[in-house]
Formats: sequence, structure tokens, C-alpha cells
Amino acid sequence: MRTVDEHQRVVTALIKARPPVRVGIADALGLVLAEDVVAPLSLPGFDNSAMDGYAVMADDVASASPDSPVKLPVAEDIPAGRTDVLTLKAGTAHRIMTGAMLPSGATAVVPVEATNAATDTVEIRAAAKQAQHIRRAGEDVTAGTAVLRAGQIVTPAALGLAAALGLAELTVIPRQRVLVMSTGTELVAPGTPLAPGQIYESNAVMLAAALRDAGAEVVASVMTGDDVDSFRAALAAHTGDADLIITTGGVSAGAYEVVKDALAGGVEFVKVAMQPGMPQGCGVVDGVPIVTLPGNPVSALVSFEVFLRTPLRAAMGLPDPERPRRTAVLTEDLTSPRGKRQFRRGVLDADAGTVTSYGPPASHHLRWLASANCLLEIPEDVDALSAGSPVQVWDLA
Ligand code: AMP
Ligand code: MG
Repeated sequence: MRTVDEHQRVVTALIKARPPVRVGIADALGLVLAEDVVAPLSLPGFDNSAMDGYAVMADDVASASPDSPVKLPVAEDIPAGRTDVLTLKAGTAHRIMTGAMLPSGATAVVPVEATNAATDTVEIRAAAKQAQHIRRAGEDVTAGTAVLRAGQIVTPAALGLAAALGLAELTVIPRQRVLVMSTGTELVAPGTPLAPGQIYESNAVMLAAALRDAGAEVVASVMTGDDVDSFRAALAAHTGDADLIITTGGVSAGAYEVVKDALAGGVEFVKVAMQPGMPQGCGVVDGVPIVTLPGNPVSALVSFEVFLRTPLRAAMGLPDPERPRRTAVLTEDLTSPRGKRQFRRGVLDADAGTVTSYGPPASHHLRWLASANCLLEIPEDVDALSAGSPVQVWDLA
């Protein structure tokens, strides 16, 4: 039997980062920058008003007070977006709005609240400090500086900054494109009637969601029966430009193991010393890496967590590709099969630092996984743990 660590290494080696691409900023959210972003311009781009008010020379209004306002003729009206370049003459004011370009010669902005708000001759009722309410060109960003670094995730704020700098595209590490295929003649799509002996398909939707949650792109999510020809046909039809294929089912020791039967040769099928998730396989089909997961839904999702999520995220350059691992105190006695690494579903109480296993260890109890918030990782050489023992958990929250 292959160890978990060894199978992790083999799967990880199959998953390769794609070359960087330029994408429109609207499509860059959550991706990782492949290069530094150097500001092509300064922010603000020009001196502008931080308030709605009046641009003045501070010296002209030095004596202003509520009791003896200074009266200045309003020579210009400058809304935001006015593009002609203005000069303020001594002894005059320009009415100016927030964000509008400051006229040259102005040394302060008096907020409208400190005036009578007039448009012909304004009464200024407070003295102004030099430079008050002026946003200077370049005080946020100086042109030529690296404002975002390669390796940083594109957040909403990073997108806002890129847009403010006039950048319509960013160079990012693209998402991994993954084809999901579930196999089983017994499977029926949710929303359609069931005949006796049939079950609803759950792996494809679950893995597609897990992939998207991990930052990957799902190129297609396909369900096939257990005959080799239709499996091969579906594979050929959908592989397209996938970077990775993930299948579920058809890899254990029974008859009608369609994935095993169809892919013998290019794919290595192994037993991995873990519970759940013992039957595994991986390899390359028509130049595309493939990882074949077991069919039981809990096995499939736990296998995705253990073998695929981290290398996929690493290949997309994500800074924290692994689930956070914590040590928590077990609240109960547990047993685990010796010689296998067990991943039990658990409920972690992060405040108390305790963890309780949740549901039976078997691989078809999906209900418990759906309400668990962690996996308990019990090492191969441990067959029993007593309440109060420290145990490693993978935080899924
Ligand atoms: P297999 O690995 O194909 O032998 O499947 C193992 C168990 O998982 C069987 O009980 C299957 O019916 C079930 N199973 C396999 N694939 C799926 C799926 N996509 N959705 C739900 N159950 C499945
Ligand atoms: Mg099957």
C-alpha cells in the first residue's frame, strides 16, 4: 500500500502552474498577480479640493471671522470634471467642488459651511490655514512606484487601485481548469425521478463546488454510466483545454470498474493507506493529468482535501494553499485502524480548543460531513486515542 504522503507527492507532481495571462480587471478578483503593478501615474493626478467650498489665497482671508467676514467676488465656478486650467487672481475666490482641479495660485479651500454659499460675491467667515483642504498631486501614489506586488491576491481594493491608476488589465496566474467526471450506472441527476436501485448523483456538484471554492475553474461536470465506451467518449468530448481531470467512482476492486477498465495503462491505480479513500489512481491521459477518486461521496471529498486542494491552490500561486492545521484536545475516546491514516469528520470548538468527532468513520455518511467544520487526522501508527489527547485537525471553516 502507498502512504498518504507518497500519493500526495505523486499527485502534486502532476499539477503544473499555467503561464501568466493578462485579464480584464473585472475578471481578476481572487487571482494572484504574476508581476508587480507599477503605477503609470500619480494619485491624485493633480492638486484638487478636498471639500465643497471656495478656492482662495489664504492671505486674502486672514482676517475673516463670523463678525467681520471677508467679501470676495466669485470669478469662476469649478465643478468636478472641469478640464480647463484656471488661475486664481488675488482678491477673488473660485467656487470649487470636491475633486475639482485647484486653480493655480490658490493656497487654501474654505469649506462652504464657513461662507454664505453665494455665487456672485461670497462672504468668507473664517480664516484659512495655508494648504487647508487641498489634496496634493502624488500624496497617495507617486508614478513609478510598485503599488501591488507579484504574489498578492487581487482583492476588491486592489482592483479599485488598478482602476484608479487607469489599468484595464492585470497580469495574473490563471485558474486551473478542471474537468469533473462522475461515473456510475446507478446515478441520476437531482431533480429527476428515481427508479428502484438508482441514487442521486452527488459527487460532481460537490467537487465542482469544492474546486470553485479552491479558486479553480470547472470546465465541465459530466456524469457517465459504467460502460467503457461511453466513459471514453465523454472523456474525449470534454477534455478540451482542461489542465486536470478528476473522476469519481469505478476504481475499487469490484466488477464494472469503468475508470480502471478504461484507463488501464496511462493511469496507475493504487491502494493508499488511509480511511476513507483507499482506492486511488492518477496519471496522464492524452497529455492531461488525471486523478481518479473513489466513488463514495465522503471518500471523494476527503480525497480532494487530502490530495488535490493544496497543489491546485499552490499552482494558482495562492499564498496559503493549505488548510490551516491546528492541534485540539479530543473530548472523547476514539479508535482508528492501525496502519492507515484516518480522517474523521469533526466539530472544532476553536475558543475551547477542543474537537469532537462527528458521525461514523465510514465513507458514505455524507450528512455528517455536511455539518462538520474540520477533519481529524489520526496517524497511521495510532489505533486508539483517549479523551484529553491532543489531535491534529484540518480547519475547513
Ligand atoms: P464506486 O467507487 O463506483 O464503486 O462507488 C462506491 C459507492 O459510491 C457506491 O455506493 C456508489 O453508488 C457511490 N457513488 C459513486 N459515485 C457517486 C456519485 N457520483 N454520487 C453519489 N454516490 C456515488
Ligand atoms: Mg461505481
